[in-house]
Amino acid sequence: MLLTQAKAMQIIDTPLEMQQTARSLKREGKTIGFVPTMGYLHAGHLSLMQIARPKIDVLVTSIFVNPTQFGPNEDLNTYPRDIERDTRMCQEVGVDMIFYPTPPQMYAPDHSVYVVENYLASGLCGSSRPIHFRGMLTVVAKLFNVVQPDLAVFGQKDAQQFRLIQQMTRDLNFPIEILAGPIIREKDGLAMSSRNEYLSPVERQEAICLNQALRKAEQLFAQGERWTNRYEHEIEEIIRRSKSAHTDYIEIVDLKTFQPVSKIDSPTLVALAVFFEKTRLIDNTVLRDEGDDTIQIN
Ligand code: AMP
Repeated sequence: MLLTQAKAMQIIDTPLEMQQTARSLKREGKTIGFVPTMGYLHAGHLSLMQIARPKIDVLVTSIFVNPTQFGPNEDLNTYPRDIERDTRMCQEVGVDMIFYPTPPQMYAPDHSVYVVENYLASGLCGSSRPIHFRGMLTVVAKLFNVVQPDLAVFGQKDAQQFRLIQQMTRDLNFPIEILAGPIIREKDGLAMSSRNEYLSPVERQEAICLNQALRKAEQLFAQGERWTNRYEHEIEEIIRRSKSAHTDYIEIVDLKTFQPVSKIDSPTLVALAVFFEKTRLIDNTVLRDEGDDTIQIN
């Protein structure tokens, strides 16, 4: 082996081996960065890995399509998967270890303990997907215990998820720094998502209305509009032009509390969930007077 050759990336498939590896890295004084994913990676996922990479010694990502966050009529079985392609992409951005367990390795047949949050999780995706956040928080808590990261990075794309993880980390005293990465978009503005794969060519074209609606919201904000009913009206108008679109929700909420606001006077999230025939896509933007477009609430 050449001395200059990069250290091989490891794929670890059992929670016990991952946990033991993490513990021994800790004993050596190494810091661990973590980016959890459901795989079928795209540039959005890679951007989170690139945020973590320079901040820690060892970069771990997980690829796990978590069954407990899918409802009975959702896309658990059809969710796209391609571990070989994912592995190559992880290697390219300097991931050291992929944690790639199977559902039976993560959940004992009689598992019965969940992490539940009922305030921030009550609206938006929480009302359309009743068991989603319980499953998501549970698996993230489990992954935190298995991977033992010092830092974990999540996307603003799933803004309510980010806010819930931030709250769980604080409320359950996980010793982990939580960072958000901005939404990475295709050239025409569609937010990258593994689920974009499901769209027909017509739906793919129509799906850019999400981005157009959010840009309209940003424009209204820049013009000084603060009453949210005007935003809702304009957004509905833009989405209605796409024949395949059926709105799940248009929500304008306080970024910290996730409660609906009628007038914008603190950092505010405009969040959309829209079905393009069977494919449900989400997107959002943050409106605030100063600063960047990532979500950092402390
Ligand atoms: P997923 O594989 O969809 O569960 O996503 C894994 C992580 O990637 C989550 O923290 C997502 O918020 C994040 N993510 C998904 N899509 C994007 C995107 N377009 N830009 C940035 N981050 C993203």
